[in-house]
Amino acid sequence: VASASASGVRQVKLDKQCELRIVVGRESSLRLRLHTGTAEIFGTEIPPEKWLTFPPRIKFAVFSIYGATIEMDGFTETDYIADETPMISYINVHAILEEQRNRAQASSSADSNSSQGPRVIVAGPTDSGKSTLSKMLLSWAAKQGWKPTFVDLDIGQGSITIPGCIAATPVKVPIDPVEGIPLEMPLVYFYGHTTPSVNANLYKVLVKELAQTLDRQFAGNSESRAAGMVINTMGWIEGVGYKLLLHAIDSFKANVVLVLGQEKLCSMLRNVLKNRPSVDVVKLEKSGGVVLRNAKVRQKARSYRIKEYFYGLANDLKPHSNVSKFSDFVLYRIGGLQASRSALPIGAKPAADHMRLVPVNINRDLLHLVLAVSFATEPDQIISSNVAGFIYITDINVQRKTITYLAPSAGVFPGKYLIVGTLTWLEN
Ligand code: ATP
Repeated sequence: VASASASGVRQVKLDKQCELRIVVGRESSLRLRLHTGTAEIFGTEIPPEKWLTFPPRIKFAVFSIYGATIEMDGFTETDYIADETPMISYINVHAILEEQRNRAQASSSADSNSSQGPRVIVAGPTDSGKSTLSKMLLSWAAKQGWKPTFVDLDIGQGSITIPGCIAATPVKVPIDPVEGIPLEMPLVYFYGHTTPSVNANLYKVLVKELAQTLDRQFAGNSESRAAGMVINTMGWIEGVGYKLLLHAIDSFKANVVLVLGQEKLCSMLRNVLKNRPSVDVVKLEKSGGVVLRNAKVRQKARSYRIKEYFYGLANDLKPHSNVSKFSDFVLYRIGGLQASRSALPIGAKPAADHMRLVPVNINRDLLHLVLAVSFATEPDQIISSNVAGFIYITDINVQRKTITYLAPSAGVFPGKYLIVGTLTWLEN
């Protein structure tokens, strides 16, 4: 094994079915190439002899089924070889999903049940490797020519768009280990908070909306239907989190539930789903390579995701700073107290109404918030509409009644409705 934290090109020999686990150093990027043999990073094959550049702090693993030599140039925080990984069991899951896809493709597309490929949901506690397993399954499927749909229900650490959202996008090519998924118009719903407990009812409504929209799209697209979906979930699996997981399994009509690294969750799910023979609950071992992340690291990761949305992965995008009049926008928050006190019996306190659209006044309280731009053209469509993108409020001038905000360079405004949540960001 090459020594950690040394610089200069080092060669590492990977025996078959072994994995090289790397955390890139804090200050500079790491260059890596496949010298001999074959290897992959989270399901995506590494091209031979081509130097790949990994940004600081990124955590990943190079896995080889048949053996390989890898060359590295640069500092790492850690790098070591593991000869015990659950990768073979993950590959076996992929093989079973492939059979289901082939069967779905071969069946008559008129039969919506048998022409439906696997709808896989990945569940487990935080830091069990759910996002990583989801990406592997998607990349392996894309390598075989399928275009599976990636659904990300994790509002804490989104892989498709910024935190606070649930989203879906087709995956047409294996996922680039650095660049992530190329996005052409992902389907995004804005929840607006990074924990589901803020408004669990809203979370459920949005999950349902997303599932129904995908169902409609799949109805006319036998290719997507046969390829199926891989659904990544939140690491919150206790109490309300568990109920939300069951709700997601139902809403997406999942037929394969993969449970990573938790016996208890697996047996609970097997128990509640035992009357549904069409749903398989499969327990999988968690990889020892998954890096634990504390609250501070998660907060940082969220902040990076928002920065990446506006500035690009390598600071290569230039967001537009715009100035608009207050009157150009109408802002709403979702959830508040019941509409009218006067309608209540004397002395009764208004109850929370989680689905109420509450108009939001524009003032300096909005500074540093990230708002979503809704596709809705009428207020009553806001909850059920997906969003076009996000803006970041950098200044509010109450005297002049102007808002200054950042929008990505491709920013377009389909309407005037903006959704306000609690998602904030401080630049740098
Ligand atoms: P959460 O639900 O808490 O967001 P998760 O269960 O989805 O987390 P991942 O995001 O998949 O967990 O993994 C956590 C981190 O560990 C990621 O940075 C990922 O790149 C890294 N990681 C996962 N598997 C490996 C591995 N085998 N070797 C090295 N790093 C890994």
